[in-house]
Amino acid sequence: MTDAGPLVGRLALIGIGLIGSSIAHAARKHGLAGHIAIHTRSAATLGRAEALRLGDSYHADPQDAVRDADLVILCIPVGACGAAASAFAAALKPGAIISDVGSVKASIIRQVKPHLPAGVHLVPAHPVAGTEYSGPDAGFADLFEKRWCILTPEAGTDPAAVARVAAFWRAMGADVETMEAEHHDLVLAITSHVPHLIAYNIVGTAAHLEEVTQSEVMKFSAGGFRDFTRIAASDPTMWRDVFLNNREAVLEMLGRFVEDLTALQRHIRYGDGDALFDLFTRTRAIRRGIIAAGQETAAPDFGRRTGATATP
Ligand code: NAP
Repeated sequence: MTDAGPLVGRLALIGIGLIGSSIAHAARKHGLAGHIAIHTRSAATLGRAEALRLGDSYHADPQDAVRDADLVILCIPVGACGAAASAFAAALKPGAIISDVGSVKASIIRQVKPHLPAGVHLVPAHPVAGTEYSGPDAGFADLFEKRWCILTPEAGTDPAAVARVAAFWRAMGADVETMEAEHHDLVLAITSHVPHLIAYNIVGTAAHLEEVTQSEVMKFSAGGFRDFTRIAASDPTMWRDVFLNNREAVLEMLGRFVEDLTALQRHIRYGDGDALFDLFTRTRAIRRGIIAAGQETAAPDFGRRTGATATP
């Protein structure tokens, strides 16, 4: 809430899973919207959102949700955003702002922009905050507190629309940074997408082992494996879409990762302890830098925490 009333008159949320419901909770908590309209594709999820009282109105038809909305936020898997925009675009009012929360940004612009009528502003956003849980029950108001939200408006986007979206995220507790969509996708490929792929892969490898039984994997999982299983429990639809829609950047970073892994393999094979020690010393400094930047706690938890830890 500002002195002049809520930041946004009518807020429409398209999709009401972990991120959509967290926005609904946070917008309510901070008085950011005069009215919260919710649409999601399934009657079951829409009913659950209503039972949880996440919004003020609930719509089976996305056009009814976005009609007269000042800010529309797509909170659905990246690959579904183009079809969603085409379904509601005709009902948008002039001056409306369309945003999203997708973990990949250039693809969102490619998918959504062609459907938008003139006079509607596209301000893509990515809150770098999340958990491994999904659905409308998973959201909570503080998810975005002290987390980054990256805006990737194209050059020439109305500065007032960008400022409004930035103010909305700051009011939910986030720190806002703006960058080009392609740069975002490269940065997130190495900080989030490739780490998730590694986690999916190592948990998959453990599942395929024959010499080590599944029950031994579960029993002795404290040795690093447990952290990977938490990340590898993230939503399969969302992550499938991330890799399909950020293909070039992920393949680029994965190529570098494989080269470095091969070098490590050689150090181990030839007993080059100094090379291993040097790398592990440098990586420890990166961890300390992340803690110093306030993006992680120094308290040991070994992945046991629930809550805002994964950052897709
Ligand atoms: P979620 O909890 O799984 O909720 C997904 C929502 O999208 C539901 O409302 C679901 O509707 C709807 N949906 C699923 N598939 C759809 C399709 N093909 N067409 C239209 N609607 C569809 O997902 P989430 O974690 O909130 O993620 C939503 C977005 O946030 C994704 O783009 C993701 O990249 C981004 N994001 C996620 C995280 C995270 O940690 N999870 C963090 C930052 C950004 P029904 O239930 O009605 O089917």
